[in-house]
Amino acid sequence: MEAKAKPKYSPILDLFNRLKHHYGPSGWWPGETSFEIIVGAVLTQNTAWSNVEKALESLKTSQLFDLASMHKANIKHIATLIRPAGYYNIKSKRLKNLISAITKTSGKNLDKFLALDLAKLRQILLKVNGVGKETADSICCYAANQPIFVIDTYTKRILSRHKLIEDSCDYDEMQRLFESELPKNVQIYKDFHAYLVFIGKEFCKKTNPQCDKCPLKDW
Ligand code: SF4
Repeated sequence: MEAKAKPKYSPILDLFNRLKHHYGPSGWWPGETSFEIIVGAVLTQNTAWSNVEKALESLKTSQLFDLASMHKANIKHIATLIRPAGYYNIKSKRLKNLISAITKTSGKNLDKFLALDLAKLRQILLKVNGVGKETADSICCYAANQPIFVIDTYTKRILSRHKLIEDSCDYDEMQRLFESELPKNVQIYKDFHAYLVFIGKEFCKKTNPQCDKCPLKDW
């Protein structure tokens, strides 16, 4: 009888399994609805999540928290409401641009927009001024539940410090690495990205990484 070939070792899958064992279900992305995830993905650019939460709360209490109301709302009014998230003039424009793109494509039907073919959805999002790959992929993965892996600064830092990638590795190369080594499963993608953010925020800081306390210290 022929011996079965040993499955090839995948450091990416190993990393996922370790983090899953440590953290369990991530509960990400924080947000009750797809619309909240989309707005949060724009507001979180260059700011801490605690500030985003204040801006989201302010939008919710002003009764502006749906596609049609935000589409109609005055941009200056939106800017005032999202002030706690920082860069509020830029972010209000980005939100308006994004909402215009959604309504132009699918009317007031956000579910229809999010159900577009992944490549098409990503292409539309990337054409929106102020929406880069990380924001577009966050929306595709967490709001649209489509299988695309989100890359961010934490991902690069952790992989680079563990010598899994060269410093020159770009967004697309890292995304291909994750997607080629993981099962094509949106829940795995969601949890894994969240775990990397948890590690990056708590331990793998830009300066003074806390390796002695980190769940990846022996990895
Ligand atoms: S902080 Fe954790 S992830 Fe970062 S280098 Fe140290 S052990 Fe690795």
